[in-house]
Amino acid sequence: MIQFDNSYVRDLPGTYLRQAPDVAPAPALVVLNEPLAAELGLMIDDPAGWFSGAVVPEGAEPAALAYAGHQFGGFSPSLGDGRAHLLGEFLGSDGRRWDLQLKGSGRTPFSRGGDGKAALGPMLREYLISEAMAALRIPTTRSLAVVTTGEQVLREAGPLPGAVVARVAASHVRVGTFQFFHARGEVDKLRALLDYTIARHYPGVEGALGLFDAVVAAQARLIAQWMGVGFIHGVMNTDNMALSGETIDYGPCAFMEAYAPGTVFSSIDRQGRYAYANQPLILGWNLARLAETLLPFFDVDAERAIDLANARLEGIAEIYRVEWVAVMRAKLGLLGEDAGDGALADDFLLAIQGVDWTLAFRRLAWAVEDEAALLSLFEDGAAIKAWLPRWRARLQEDAAVAMLAVNPAVIPRNHLVEAALEAATLGDLMPFQALLVQVRDPFATEAGREGFTLPAPTGFGRYVTYCGT
Ligand code: AMP
Ligand code: MG
Repeated sequence: MIQFDNSYVRDLPGTYLRQAPDVAPAPALVVLNEPLAAELGLMIDDPAGWFSGAVVPEGAEPAALAYAGHQFGGFSPSLGDGRAHLLGEFLGSDGRRWDLQLKGSGRTPFSRGGDGKAALGPMLREYLISEAMAALRIPTTRSLAVVTTGEQVLREAGPLPGAVVARVAASHVRVGTFQFFHARGEVDKLRALLDYTIARHYPGVEGALGLFDAVVAAQARLIAQWMGVGFIHGVMNTDNMALSGETIDYGPCAFMEAYAPGTVFSSIDRQGRYAYANQPLILGWNLARLAETLLPFFDVDAERAIDLANARLEGIAEIYRVEWVAVMRAKLGLLGEDAGDGALADDFLLAIQGVDWTLAFRRLAWAVEDEAALLSLFEDGAAIKAWLPRWRARLQEDAAVAMLAVNPAVIPRNHLVEAALEAATLGDLMPFQALLVQVRDPFATEAGREGFTLPAPTGFGRYVTYCGT
């Protein structure tokens, strides 16, 4: 059993609708995250029943949460959990409060035209990528299980096996949650949400300004970490940005292979709004949307509130840059701080254009001893050869070990993810399980697992991802 303590439904009436998940006709467990369950002290009596929604565990109070969101820049005042159910919250044996949520578990009053369901492939994708992110030490929601429902869901590709992912999150409070009540002028609910979010995520910070500063810091650090591993979220809509600073809602996300700032994988991102190099700009844009909802709490004087907000928004780019340079220092093996580190990192990026992002950093660690493997990545090595002596002049002698501990050998390579999900959809879980083992151990040596460390073969072509619906 799980000891639930459902603070969101208790403390924030009017911000959600009670809604039971669908009863899946033939739930079958596909994958259970036993290490995570153990880490959180969860006793899972009926994984297939609980995590498909067929059996509501004792103490759960299923609800669909309300939120709004800017999607690709356009505002939707009412989105909400259209295919997800918050089962409730529990206190993990790590001492933290966690949401337990099902996704793909049926229609809710927020479903609009959607069927409330999910296909197995996208739910396994969330499981795999969020496990990879956790292993890369990047804040993220965690996947606890994927269960097939025994139903077929109809998608463009035809009928597919239906599935539910169970995930845990620090919370599901999104920028879009604040936007929902702001757009409706529900100041009391906004106030309650503000107090709740501070108490849950940033206890001790002072009021709305304190919360905003804390979210800026957490999100800036998060996006800097994404950039470090070449992660492209793909749908950085405001409803997919969590106040906790966790990565949330894995849809068409993917890891960049050859470094190109404009890289986009998602089929729906036609303008490249959420391209790799745009992510830090969208960070600022989304945080401006959050600030708008908090203006009344920044100051009773509207003009002063706007001045306070603007001063903070102007500072975000610099806060992000500091976080990014810190990430790059670690990746480049630079200990301590030097005023030239940002420029050194910028110039490395210029030198590795078109080269596999992950391999470039990994082999830079090897280059502490021997540059050959690094240089073999380049068709024209002029820029990197000019850069290396500048780096050496700044490098600590024994940097290689530390660099290998932050620059992964293994990321979820797109061609392997696709092959694993395709096989799983046809009933063969072996490639998925094999890939999962590897992405959970990203920093260990390549030896014996070379097939997981190299970019897609050239025949793979341009990679396109589709929204997880
Ligand atoms: P997402 O792209 O998963 O972040 O979802 C954006 C919005 O669409 C959220 O409000 C979801 O709950 C809703 N949504 C996505 N897929 C479905 C679906 N199959 N049925 C109902 N609602 C959905
Ligand atoms: Mg979402």
